[in-house]
Amino acid sequence: LKRDFNALGQGTFDLIVIGGGIVGAGVARDAALRGLNTLLVEKDDFGCGTTSRSSRLVHGGLRYLRMFDIKLVHQDLHEREILLNIAPHLVHRLEFVIPLLRSRPLYRFTLPFGLRLYNLLSHGTSLPSSHRLSVGETLRLEPSLSDTAGLVGAYVYYDCQSEYTERVCIENILDASSNGTCVLNHAMMTDVIVKDNRVNGIVVRDMQTGEERQAQGRIILNASGPWANAVLQKVGLERKHHIRKTKGIHLITDKMTNNALVLFARRDGRLFFIIPWLDYSLIGTTDIDYPGDPAKAQAERADVDYLVTEIRHYFPGFKENDILYTQAGIRALVPHGRKASSTSRAHRLIDHERRDSLPGFVSILGGKHTAYRVIAEEAVDLVCQKLGIEIACRTAQTPLPGAPAVKKERLETAARESGLPLKMVAHLADIYGSRYTSVLELAAGDKRLLDPIVPGRQDILAQLKHAIVEESALSVSDFMVRRSFIGLGPEQGLDAVGVVAQEMGKLLGWNKTEVEKQIKDYRAEAALGQRFRS
Ligand SMILES: Cc1cc2nc3c(=O)[nH]c(=O)nc-3n(C[C@H](O)[C@H](O)[C@H](O)COP(=O)(O)OP(=O)(O)OC[C@H]3O[C@@H](n4cnc5c(N)ncnc54)[C@H](O)[C@@H]3O)c2cc1C
Repeated sequence: LKRDFNALGQGTFDLIVIGGGIVGAGVARDAALRGLNTLLVEKDDFGCGTTSRSSRLVHGGLRYLRMFDIKLVHQDLHEREILLNIAPHLVHRLEFVIPLLRSRPLYRFTLPFGLRLYNLLSHGTSLPSSHRLSVGETLRLEPSLSDTAGLVGAYVYYDCQSEYTERVCIENILDASSNGTCVLNHAMMTDVIVKDNRVNGIVVRDMQTGEERQAQGRIILNASGPWANAVLQKVGLERKHHIRKTKGIHLITDKMTNNALVLFARRDGRLFFIIPWLDYSLIGTTDIDYPGDPAKAQAERADVDYLVTEIRHYFPGFKENDILYTQAGIRALVPHGRKASSTSRAHRLIDHERRDSLPGFVSILGGKHTAYRVIAEEAVDLVCQKLGIEIACRTAQTPLPGAPAVKKERLETAARESGLPLKMVAHLADIYGSRYTSVLELAAGDKRLLDPIVPGRQDILAQLKHAIVEESALSVSDFMVRRSFIGLGPEQGLDAVGVVAQEMGKLLGWNKTEVEKQIKDYRAEAALGQRFRS
């Protein structure tokens, strides 16, 4: 991936996308596959916003059935199947257990109807239907529930998980780039250019150098997620199309369960999850209005108390001390005047030419990660219509660059040939899919690159070079939490940050001051999640 700031100012792009989260990345890929000359700018790093803070489920969502959002659930179950096909290395089936308690007769009565409807809406997809378990069967499947008072059985159903949602985003970016899109991370849109009452470009600041340039475009698309209000403000439309921002947090703990558990909070009846994720459990989430800067969101005392109290109804021994770290993310919801947790997750595509007499400008507000591909398809259909181009969308059939998932025999051969333990090669394939070979190829000429970044860990030095050369990692944080996942472990990678900064510094030409700044910035970022660690 070549980050080419000089491409700005050389001619007019068909489409400029503001925001490199999953939605912007999906739009850029779709547009590139249809042959549009596209630019994407991301002010920080690809996927660093809400995209990296989700529950990582690729699902229709039982919660949204309770809100009677049947159209949304149906659409997302269809998308789940498409993602299983185009990203089998990153999207996996997950078993969900819903424990049934004697004290909650209402759920015992309503759940069978909800699950039957979910099965019906999933019809034609590859995942099995739900079924009921006795107490004995429940405990055999999920022994962790043995201390749950009043357990009378469970329902099991199936959905999907993408452990590395950030990688789904990056792979969309990589594919967009290899199909001709100019993609720039650490490049912020600082202004929208309006001439003769038409939007025809943006001003972009290279956050690496401070240099600003103009980029001309025929259509400018705002895919800035929870920052949408700030972008709309540039064209005076923030009041008219205001988004509602709500915060959701997760607790990360040692692994508590074999399966994903769906639990119901006593306080407000909300549904929350305990999800096996990597070697840990991801527990959440919450849903509270959040007026502040999305970049500064963090778990607060009230958020943590809510989850800890509710977890204890099922796991009486659970303690705040069990929290390894927390994450917080901001949803961008299209307001409907309802309370935060019952506001629809449906997206809205706004053609500002039609709505606000402002040609050249389009916004995508809201939407779930699961639906990113179809949201992008709808947006690029509109862009094509405006540009007078008729080319069909190909993203539902075109696998992401790391597909397919790698077979075990292939990994064994790679382990033999490279001299790396099988476990380490498998780890690379988990992250990069079939592109793990490009990481190993880098080490072919320099065996030192096969060394682990930190002794005893599975990540190797070649990943650092790969992240910089192939995937435009420009900061320690880019590498720690969005290219590799060293930063998602219990220590949030704080034991590796020094080595990573030194090694990246050698490749990117950082001086001592810059290396120290990178370490300090990453520590500050990690500290946001450490507040409730004992
Ligand atoms: C707690 C929580 C749990 C969730 N769980 C799930 C789930 O399990 N399944 C699911 O399907 N969905 C889930 N979601 C929703 C999902 O995460 C979001 O729908 C999705 O990530 C939104 O992506 P996005 O690209 O719109 O926004 P973002 O990822 O936030 O991307 C917007 C990007 O725009 C950039 N940007 C902003 N302003 C500018 C500018 N001026 N110039 C350049 N770039 C700019 C930002 O830096 C950011 O990277 C969850 C959300 C939350 C908060």
